[in-house]
Amino acid sequence: MIKINNLSKSFSDNLVLENITTTIEHGEVVAVIGPSGSGKSTFLRCINLLESPSSGQILLHEMDITKPKINKLEIRKNIGMVFQHFHLFPHMTAFENVMYAPMKVKHQKRGEAEKIAKELLIKVGLTEKMDTYPNRLSGGQKQRVAIARALAMEPEIMLFDEPTSALDPEMVKEVLDVMKDLAKSGMTMVVVTHEMNFAKEVADRIIFMDGGQLIEEGEPISFFDNPQTKRAGDFLAKVL
Ligand code: ADP
Ligand code: MG
Repeated sequence: MIKINNLSKSFSDNLVLENITTTIEHGEVVAVIGPSGSGKSTFLRCINLLESPSSGQILLHEMDITKPKINKLEIRKNIGMVFQHFHLFPHMTAFENVMYAPMKVKHQKRGEAEKIAKELLIKVGLTEKMDTYPNRLSGGQKQRVAIARALAMEPEIMLFDEPTSALDPEMVKEVLDVMKDLAKSGMTMVVVTHEMNFAKEVADRIIFMDGGQLIEEGEPISFFDNPQTKRAGDFLAKVL
C-alpha cells in the first residue's frame, strides 16, 4: 500500500531521518519503536504530509505523494492520525467532534454523518458520552473519541503517534483494546509506541529506529527475542 524509498528529512542542518526505506502492506500493523528523538514522529508526519521530506519518495498505491503538485488535503482524507495529546475540538461534544470532518471535508449529509458518528462512538465504548464536551472526559475517553473521529473519514490507513503516552496507567488498556479491535478488523496501522506488550502481541512487524535511521525491522517474536543489532539489543535491555 505504501512504499517508502530513501526518505530523508532535515530541519535546517539537522538530519532527523536518513534514507528510510520500507513498505507497509494492506492490512498490516506496524509498530515503530525507538528512543526519544530518533525520528519516529517525523517519520509518521512525513507519511501524511504534515512534513515535506527533504529527499526520497513515498508512494501510496504507486502514486508519488511527495511530488510538489500533489493535493495534500486529498491525500490526508485517506490517512487518519491520532496524536499523543488528542487534539479534540474543545467547543464541540464528542458526537460533534466525530461528525465534523466528514461533513466539512467530505460533504457528507448531516443524517449520514450522524449515523456513522453514532456507530463509531458505540464501537469505541462511548455510548454514554456522545453529548459530553472534551473537558468532561477522561484522557482515555478523549483518546477514544479521537480514534472515532479519525475513523469517521473512512481512512485506508491509521497512524498513531504514542496514543497512550499521555494517559494515566489505568486508562491505557481501554485505548489499546480499541486499537486491538481495529487491527483485528483488518485496518492498516502504523503505531509509534512505547507499549512493548502491545507491539509484541498486535503488530505484524516492528520497525526499530535510532538516530534517524531504520536500524532493524522484523517480526515481533524474532525482534524481541533475538534482535540482530547491538543498538536494538541495548534499547530492549532498557525498556523490557
Ligand atoms: P521521536 O518522535 O522519535 O521522539 P521526532 O521525530 O519528534 O523524534 O524528532 C526527531 C528529531 O527531529 C529531534 O532531534 C527533534 O528535535 C527534531 N525535530 C522534530 N521536529 C522538528 C521541527 N519541526 N523543527 C526542528 N527540529 C525538529
Ligand atoms: Mg515522537
